[in-house]
Amino acid sequence: DEATLEAVQTAERHAFNSSVERQLVSHDALREAIAANHLAIWLQPIRSVRDGRLHGFESLARWRHRDAWVAPERFIATAEQTGLIGPLTHWSLHGTLRACAPALRENPTLVFSINLSPRAVLEDDVVAAFSAALALWGVPASALKVEVTETAFVSDMPALSEVLRELHATGVAISIDDYGTGYSSMAYLREFPVDEVKLDRSFIQDITVNTRSRQLAAAAVSLAHGIGAQVVAEGVESAQTLALLAEMGCDRYQGYLHGRPAPAAEAIAAMTGGD
Ligand code: C2E
Ligand code: CA
Ligand code: CA
Ligand code: CA
Repeated sequence: DEATLEAVQTAERHAFNSSVERQLVSHDALREAIAANHLAIWLQPIRSVRDGRLHGFESLARWRHRDAWVAPERFIATAEQTGLIGPLTHWSLHGTLRACAPALRENPTLVFSINLSPRAVLEDDVVAAFSAALALWGVPASALKVEVTETAFVSDMPALSEVLRELHATGVAISIDDYGTGYSSMAYLREFPVDEVKLDRSFIQDITVNTRSRQLAAAAVSLAHGIGAQVVAEGVESAQTLALLAEMGCDRYQGYLHGRPAPAAEAIAAMTGGD
């Protein structure tokens, strides 16, 4: 009957999609997608907790192929494991700068955040690549922020720290991403020139119902402020969550409440449309 047919078709579609995804997350397919520009830059707004003013956007990579989204976590992991994180970072840097240049003419205070894998930092001459890209697109370093995720590469800390110091000296801001989920949070705060700490959404999403989460978030805000860093909360989906963040003195927020990631042109048009 019809219901059975539909169930079979759905099952086939899932099987197809997951095999497409597996196939696509190979080195060759990802290399091809980067070279052929089959990835896209999406942007998500980051706002001031105090007054909702737009601070800037986080750049998020998207890959859609044959009606299936490939989750960023999957192709980022492939990139890191197969030597493609350098090309992917290069692609993301140029794509973000191209998208942000017109928006910056309209609003010169905007800051664009790009995700920077520690592995990319260690594999390439990141400082030279960033300076060249900023010059090419005519974007000041002060309009760029890098979000560096905590990882367990503690042995590479001195090298990572050195590059981040150089990058910071050129005027690019440094944010510690997924703060609190890794193994080296305190070491990162001690070693890196940290401008911003980004509280992971796993710590934010239940602060309205979980006292312990709320206490941890508040303590993280104090800790960051204590070393002169600002704090951005990720994954803000409700007005109650935002109100608690305001009480804690959290500086900025990002989340579905006031802006989902959208294709770059769309996100920027929504900004000027007064959203
Ligand atoms: P992330 O850096 O922690 O990015 C935040 C993730 O949270 C994004 O997932 C975003 O879409 C999602 N998010 C934002 N607000 C909300 C919310 O209110 N609720 C919920 N449930 N989710 C929210 P996305 O885009 O799937 O990216 C996943 C991860 O992939 C990112 O985590 C980042 O680590 C990595 N990634 C994405 N693009 C790039 C890139 O260009 N380069 C690198 N190196 N990594 C990237
Ligand atoms: Ca991020
Ligand atoms: Ca996160
Ligand atoms: Ca992450």
